[in-house]
Amino acid sequence: MRTILLWMARNAWLKERVPRLRFVRRAVRSFMPGEDLVSAIAAAKTTRAGGVTAAFTRLGENVTDPSEADAVAAHYLTVLDQIEANKLDAEVSIKLTQLGYDLDVEAAFRHFAAIAQRAAEIGTFAWIDMEGSDYVEGTIAFYERVRAGHENVGLCLQAYLHRTPADVQRLLPIRPAIRLVKGAYAEPTAIAYHAKREVDAAFLGIATTFIQAVRDGGARFQAGTHDVDLVEQIARSGGAIGLEPGQIEVEMLYGIRVDQQRKLAARGFKVRCLIAYGEHWYPWYMRRLAERPANVLFALRQILPW
Ligand SMILES: Cc1cc2nc3c(=O)[nH]c(=O)nc-3n(C[C@H](O)[C@H](O)[C@H](O)COP(=O)(O)OP(=O)(O)OC[C@H]3O[C@@H](n4cnc5c(N)ncnc54)[C@H](O)[C@@H]3O)c2cc1C
Repeated sequence: MRTILLWMARNAWLKERVPRLRFVRRAVRSFMPGEDLVSAIAAAKTTRAGGVTAAFTRLGENVTDPSEADAVAAHYLTVLDQIEANKLDAEVSIKLTQLGYDLDVEAAFRHFAAIAQRAAEIGTFAWIDMEGSDYVEGTIAFYERVRAGHENVGLCLQAYLHRTPADVQRLLPIRPAIRLVKGAYAEPTAIAYHAKREVDAAFLGIATTFIQAVRDGGARFQAGTHDVDLVEQIARSGGAIGLEPGQIEVEMLYGIRVDQQRKLAARGFKVRCLIAYGEHWYPWYMRRLAERPANVLFALRQILPW
């Protein structure tokens, strides 16, 4: 099921047609407050009431025209203005291919640097999402370059990739901000773990390295996962080396395990919710279905009359 859904995520014919289906549009609402920024800001105010801060990501990837990349970059500057105007504790998280990385790396760099600069002015962070494995080396090199000029930038790393522990050692000297996730793409077994047990063990190992770095002031670290068992294990390891719950950051997606987001926040953890919005939600939504095939049943139930 996961393989089929991830294939569907990449299929251009389906990408064109599936988003038009009314039942799919209805189902996607459980993960996305709406297609526009106004809906995303409203959602951030709701999550704030439950003690959970926000991050915004406008859906879209692999733009094919430089003007689209320019428009995306301008949009994120508007998002930062809105974060400031609404006095939100919120960050932004961006895919490099949405900023035209496939077309012109230098232009994408200028766009991201401008966003990081504006984020610094309002005292917040700009994050780089991690995409499929073809992009990993380039994205890390991009992050190293942008980190040299900006303190307030973060990078997502994927625990399922065999290479990630080496990437962690490479990045630690630059005092990185890292959001660790399990990884959402279809990657071959030659480069990525597939078994949950192996992915979880890799996640825990990398997280343990980072919480030590957090304690020593050498990194910022977010556990980007809905896996509460993993969060508890990280919290225990953190406690054992003297970290308070308030020094442990957890980030989950809007609409997923909302009860747990609030419970962790109530216990003093720093919990952030990544709010995705926008018109280009199809591949992203398919990856969410692939993570939990039970969600397919939820989507299909929308066409039944009961
Ligand atoms: C803040 C954040 C940012 C992310 N950024 C990236 C990125 O830049 N690049 C990338 O490759 N991946 C990214 N991901 C996705 C990530 O790689 C995983 O695919 C995703 O988080 C599912 O794994 P999990 O850690 O939640 O653990 P899992 O073991 O998949 O899930 C743990 C439990 O959480 C619940 N759960 C998980 N997913 C869902 C869902 N979709 N619907 C309902 N319940 C669910 C289930 O109850 C499950 O038992 C991000 C995830 C988060 C939370």
